[in-house]
Amino acid sequence: MSKRGRRGETVQTVPSHKHCLVCGRPIPLNRDFCSRICEEKWKERKKREKRWSLIWLIFAMASMAILFILVGIW
Ligand SMILES: [Zn+2]
Repeated sequence: MSKRGRRGETVQTVPSHKHCLVCGRPIPLNRDFCSRICEEKWKERKKREKRWSLIWLIFAMASMAILFILVGIW
């Protein structure tokens, strides 16, 4: 929401707020999501991200180990 100022410039009249982490809708500062649905979506996404980062960590460590073996440090 915006309002025209006296001299014609745009004046922001939006009270302090933040946006839903999933859909970007404006929400009160004490909340993270606009609805239960968005919260569930976020949790699901986080879970998937966590799983992927674990897979990548294992992958990175495995390739490092292979590299060390190939170089002959171990
Ligand atoms: Zn939302």
